[in-house]
Parts: sequence; structure tokens; C-alpha cells
Amino acid sequence: MKDFNLASTIRQLDLTLTTTSGEISVQVDVPTAFIPITDIVPILRSMGEQTQAVETASTVQAGKEITCMKGCSACCERIMVPVSPPEAFALAEMMQSLPIAHRRRIEERLAHTRQHLEKVGLLSALEDMAESPTQWSDEKVDPLNRAYYALRQPCIFLEDGACSIYEHRPAACREYLVTSPAELCEDTEKNSVAVLPIPLRAGTALSILWADLMGGPVRLIPLPEVFEWAERHRSLLEQKWHGLELFDKALEGLDKFLNQALQGTSKND
Ligand code: SF4
Repeated sequence: MKDFNLASTIRQLDLTLTTTSGEISVQVDVPTAFIPITDIVPILRSMGEQTQAVETASTVQAGKEITCMKGCSACCERIMVPVSPPEAFALAEMMQSLPIAHRRRIEERLAHTRQHLEKVGLLSALEDMAESPTQWSDEKVDPLNRAYYALRQPCIFLEDGACSIYEHRPAACREYLVTSPAELCEDTEKNSVAVLPIPLRAGTALSILWADLMGGPVRLIPLPEVFEWAERHRSLLEQKWHGLELFDKALEGLDKFLNQALQGTSKND
């Protein structure tokens, strides 16, 4: 790892990550001051995007086309987006910085979504997932994902067919890219969709970091629950960590995740 001391408040780091897509170099700017958990979010997301850019480039080089494009919102119209706790806090802060009219529109859609989820009996399951004292397995999350998908409930941030908080969207939205025809995304239960491999899941890395810091389970919060969750745990936002130490801790969790992913790949070989 090379590092360049740019200024007393930022350290620029060059890292090489061993991922399922091979060794990938990334560059990040890490604050050296004491920072809240939300300040690590853009750093991990940037790492995820840099690794995904390498995966995308090699996919295109192999003659395939990424079919996700502006104006296609098939996944935003139905998928239950999983959000890491640090991102939940970042989204809650972002909401406060939005122009009031935009915020009101999101709040109205959120209220409508939560009412609908309650009516069909899914809201309590989402709350359970957000607050569970133990980590939910993929087997436990899967039926909830399917039930949510079947509702065709658009994301609360979707406006006129586009993400209205694009710069702030969760890591899960940034990482999900497909190479199959866009129309197949209209029903992923019936159609087989070719999803691009994700070398680094920033949301999962952030969830692992939060679990390490708090001593709880690795949790992902369904998007319609994030503001409630962030409000309930608001006092934790007051904590601060030294930027470089927090980033080191994030790298430890990331290593665990990347090693597990690599082991999974070698088992499937
Ligand atoms: S946050 Fe934005 S990108 Fe993600 S599902 Fe919602 S509208 Fe789509």
C-alpha cells in the first residue's frame, strides 16, 4: 500500500485488492481527523465503484453490453433495496439537506409505501429484519425479497422514471448491473437475468464494519425502514473515530468478505 500525505486532513491511499475479478487497484482519500461513521460511506462506495468499473471494462472488452441505462428503472420499480447501517444514517442526513419540496415528495411516497406494506402484512417483517439481534441468512431474506418484488412497489426515491437522489443512492443500487436485454428485468422471477459479478459489495463491507464497531450482527436494512431505523439509533451518530483507524477497521472487514467470496468461487470451480 502506497500513501501520499496531501494535507494534514486527508491521506491519499493506493490499495491493491484481491477480488473474485482478480487484483484490482483502487485509490481513496481518507480523512485523518476524527469522523462520524457517515464519512466512511463515500470512501467504501468509491472503492466499490472503482472495482465495478474494472469488471464493466472487461465485460465490454469481451464483447458484451451493459444494458442498464438512463431511463430504465425496472429494478427501481420493484426491488427491496438493502441498506447498510452507515448508509442509513447517511441517507437520513441527506434527506435533511434536500429542498423542502423534494423532501416532502419522498416523505409522501414513504408514508404511502409503508401503509401499503402494512396492509399486505410485510411491514413487520421488514422491521424485524432491520432490528434483528442475529444476522439474517440468505434463506431467510429470500422469501421476503420475493414477496416484496411481487408487490411492484416503486422505490420512494424514484421520480419520473429516474433516481431523484442519484449521487446519494445506496451501494446496492450502484453495484447492480446486467448484460441481458433490459426487458427481461420486467420480471426476474420468470426471466433469467445476467447480473454482472460484483467484486466488492460496499454495502456488505459497511455492514461488517458497523457490526464490528457495535458488537452486533451484520445487518442490512430494507430501504422503507432506513429513516425509522436511523431515528431510533440517532445517538450512535454522535460517536467519532480517527479516520485512518476507522478505514483500517473497514479494510479488516473487507478482507473477511473478499476471502469468503474467493473461497466460494474456488468451491464452485
Ligand atoms: S435509490 Fe435510486 S437507484 Fe436505488 S432503487 Fe431507489 S430510485 Fe433506484
